[in-house]
Amino acid sequence: MTGVGQPPDQDCIFCQIVAGQAPATRIYEDPQTLAFLDLNPINPGHCLVIPKTHHVTLFTLDSATYEAVAATTLKVAQAIQSALQPGGMNIFQANGVVAGQTVFHLHNHLLPRHDNDNLRVEVHGLQPAGVEQLEPIAERIREQLG
Ligand code: AMP
Ligand code: ZN
Repeated sequence: MTGVGQPPDQDCIFCQIVAGQAPATRIYEDPQTLAFLDLNPINPGHCLVIPKTHHVTLFTLDSATYEAVAATTLKVAQAIQSALQPGGMNIFQANGVVAGQTVFHLHNHLLPRHDNDNLRVEVHGLQPAGVEQLEPIAERIREQLG
């Protein structure tokens, strides 16, 4: 069952691509999701996977839509890996301006990686935190999980 999302946004370039009103190099689609090549690829095969319904970020997404996006991400990532044989791949998603989001329709980046491609993706700090710092943060998150 597809999540309802918001109605298509006339000003959203990815909604326009879904509707066939804007061009895209399409790779794969199913009733809930679409995969197409990024217009400004970091490396060859740089691909985006989106839900066909308009969701700005992950924060309001229903699990059925997320599962559909995840399944297409897996399928297309494996196809890129077989076709182009990059050395590795990052899956990246920006939610919100401060996270680097520039197109406000949820999308996963599938980024094929190569030795010395000069792309720096850092997802860890340099200093370990103590349990006294970790535990209060964990507790605040657990409270929201119920
Ligand atoms: P983000 O910064 O995570 O929101 O990434 C948005 C991505 O969408 C960028 O990598 C853009 O190159 C890409 N993009 C923007 N417009 C198009 C388009 N019309 N077709 C394909 N990719 C696009
Ligand atoms: Zn949209």
